[in-house]
Amino acid sequence: MPTYNPAMDDFAAHAEGRLKAAGYRLTRARRVVVAALAQADRALSPYAIIERLRATESGAPPDVVTVYRVLDLLETLDLAHRVHTVNGYVACSRLRVDGCHHHPIICAGCGRIAEIDGHAVEPLTEPLGADGWTITGHVLEFSGLCPECAAAR
Ligand SMILES: [Zn+2]
Ligand SMILES: [Zn+2]
Ligand SMILES: [Zn+2]
Repeated sequence: MPTYNPAMDDFAAHAEGRLKAAGYRLTRARRVVVAALAQADRALSPYAIIERLRATESGAPPDVVTVYRVLDLLETLDLAHRVHTVNGYVACSRLRVDGCHHHPIICAGCGRIAEIDGHAVEPLTEPLGADGWTITGHVLEFSGLCPECAAAR
C-alpha cells in the first residue's frame, strides 16, 4: 500500500497546471487553498484551511463559501478528496492524469491518511449489479493506526 506523502513538493505546481489545463483561472482563492492542502499532512475542514491561511498568508483569507467552492472544484478535478470520517479534505497523493479511485485510511492516533486502491472493492458491487441495481456511487473509508502510532502503543 503506497503511503501518503505529506511532503508533496510538486502538488501545488501540479494542481495549478491541471486547473489551467481545465480552463480555470488561477485566482488567489484557488492558489491559497491549494497551498494549504499541499502543506497539510492530514485532512483539513474548510474552517481549518481558513485558520491556516490566516497564519501563513498575508491579507484576509477567502470566506468559507469560497473555500468550499474551491474544494468542490479540486474534488471534481481529482486533485483533492473529501474524507467523510473526519469531515475534511486532503490533497490527492496519487495525482494520476486518469483520475484517482481511492479509499482513505485515517490514523486514529495522528490523523495521517493513506490511500488504498479502490479497484479492489469493485467486486463487492457485482452481486448488486446481477440483482438489477445500478450503482451510482459509494463511500468507503477505513480507520486504524499508522505504523508509527501502532509501534508507539
Ligand atoms: Zn487520490
Ligand atoms: Zn498515526
Ligand atoms: Zn471506491
